[in-house]
Amino acid sequence: MRASCDGLVIRETEYGENDRLVTVLTAEHGQMLMIAKGARSLKSKTMSLCRLFTYANFEYYEKNGRYWLSGGSVNDSFFGISSDIQGFALASYVVQLASEITGEEAGAERTLRMTLNTLYAIEKRLKPFAQIKSVYEIFASEESGFSPDIDGCDMCGDEKPESDFWLDIMNGRLVCGKCLSQRNATAEAIKNEELRIQSILVPMDISAVSAWEYVRRAELKRIFSFELASAESLERLAKASEAYITNHLERSFETLEFYNAVKE
Ligand SMILES: [Zn+2]
Repeated sequence: MRASCDGLVIRETEYGENDRLVTVLTAEHGQMLMIAKGARSLKSKTMSLCRLFTYANFEYYEKNGRYWLSGGSVNDSFFGISSDIQGFALASYVVQLASEITGEEAGAERTLRMTLNTLYAIEKRLKPFAQIKSVYEIFASEESGFSPDIDGCDMCGDEKPESDFWLDIMNGRLVCGKCLSQRNATAEAIKNEELRIQSILVPMDISAVSAWEYVRRAELKRIFSFELASAESLERLAKASEAYITNHLERSFETLEFYNAVKE
């Protein structure tokens, strides 16, 4: 059976002597693993479809329970991304996250749309890379169903504390500085290891918390349209969302290590 589908290449590897394996993220079927015969040959008509970050209409057929790429046409290759090492590193991390939060045979319309918007934002440098990265990480947490509760301090309910907030990564909540120092004092007084809560705490401020809240609720087309109060707030947001997504997905990403190694 021959068919065609719009999708984005989120992973590509060499396969056999002269072929390529591509993972295409599609709205209808989620991830589709396709074999492109002869795609490493310069004469191949599928070669241009197999590049990472290529958004195309893929023509394929199904045989022996596998998808075989037969042709197609490129919609957007996000060519500009590859001209900048930081942008390339960030885009590589974004598609790896996309691969992590989607699966086969499960629609991925929202994640596909968000990933395309993000690649566009990286290519055109619509916002600082730290902000684009953070937005995608918050989106990924939300899509995976483990968003933190960031409606004020979880312990006292204060929504605008004088002292800053801390994001309690493992418990998915905010704690204000006052409650944190009280809790630490109590734990210190008890001196009982078992009662001490194992936690990873990342400092946040009101601007970073409002930005997180904005991203959670924004329509995809407006999801990058916000400003942080300062460069420090952006840095806090960026650290918090990175710690949050990697701890909740319980894995590290080599693409993230690469991005952190090459970022300014
Ligand atoms: Zn509090």
